[in-house]
Amino acid sequence: MRLVLLGPPGAGKGTQAVLVTKHFGISHISTGEMMRSAVSSGSELGKKLKSYLDKGELVPDGLVIDLMRNRLNQKDCKNGFLLDGFPRTVDQAAALTGLLEELGLKLSAVVDIDVAEDVLLERIKLRGQASGRSDDTREVASNRLNVYRSQTAPVSQYYKNSVGIAVVDGLGTVEEVNKRIVAALNNTK
Ligand code: ADP
Repeated sequence: MRLVLLGPPGAGKGTQAVLVTKHFGISHISTGEMMRSAVSSGSELGKKLKSYLDKGELVPDGLVIDLMRNRLNQKDCKNGFLLDGFPRTVDQAAALTGLLEELGLKLSAVVDIDVAEDVLLERIKLRGQASGRSDDTREVASNRLNVYRSQTAPVSQYYKNSVGIAVVDGLGTVEEVNKRIVAALNNTK
């Protein structure tokens, strides 16, 4: 099973990604986590990424696509995977289609977690207080929402016109949302 999980920052993608990948026994690929771990390693790549992450801006497509090409070629992806945080632009989505074609693969499904914006800002604020994630401050969070609206929301449209998309209501407990996602995916291979 090869999945893409879409949704705005604060929608609960990361939490749901962990549960869904456990449920289906597939690899969890989080670009946000890959980038945060590059930043904390202090590598040259990490230094480059840090300035984008700290401002809540997107890392340039070329960089992200190279990272994903490497990641998707790793062995653990053979059993299937869930992409969390990628693609975040239409160009990334088109690049993903190309990468998968090279591997002779297709996406099984795309899930979009839907949450209203006022709820998102409140959730990100609480998460920032709890985790100290440097991009969860009010200013950066609202920038991430703007970036999402202008650059990432069009990715849903891209998939509506190709793979198809399952929109899942992201309000409710973690378990409730998870049940909805699993139900939406149960007919997919
Ligand atoms: P969120 O909680 O906003 O979903 P993530 O943990 O997925 O955040 O990503 C954090 C940051 O990492 C983003 O704000 C962005 O700077 C960078 N990033 C993650 N994935 C991508 C991507 N596919 N393209 C560009 N930048 C990305």
